[in-house]
Amino acid sequence: MKCEVCGREIPGKPIHAIIEGAKLLVCPACAKYSSGTWKERKRATLTAKTIKPAVRARRRRTNLAEEELEVVDGYGEIVRRARERRGWSQEDLGRVVGEKASVIRRIEREAMAPSIVLARKLEHALGVKLLAPPSEPTIPLAPAKTPTLTLGDLVKIREKGEEK
Ligand SMILES: [Zn+2]
Repeated sequence: MKCEVCGREIPGKPIHAIIEGAKLLVCPACAKYSSGTWKERKRATLTAKTIKPAVRARRRRTNLAEEELEVVDGYGEIVRRARERRGWSQEDLGRVVGEKASVIRRIEREAMAPSIVLARKLEHALGVKLLAPPSEPTIPLAPAKTPTLTLGDLVKIREKGEEK
């Protein structure tokens, strides 16, 4: 077994070192550059089973939500009224939805629109409706400025590129 840093034969067991973010098997001399250690078995389980499906599922759900819903007009007022009706401070509401009071303040002033995920949490915490399907599309589906390219145009463009 050779050290992945200096290339020398490692006496005894290699050390699982993290050097500049890379997981390497190194000799005791190179282990001093390590910022931590890693374990082979643990890492395999985490990436294969725990991390990836969770990330993938979350991303899919967010995309779907963003396609179909948007935060309604007057969301700040809706949040503030519902919060005050409950007798909650901005800190209280922040704690319930896992955000800082400053975030709640900005949302209530409509200085910042909540993300779809946060809007969902606020809906549940306050029993209000903050998300609705977009009333009218803000971005035209087919931008008028973009010329439609035919297959022939694409070939011409590619040929021009190759001439250089
Ligand atoms: Zn080494």
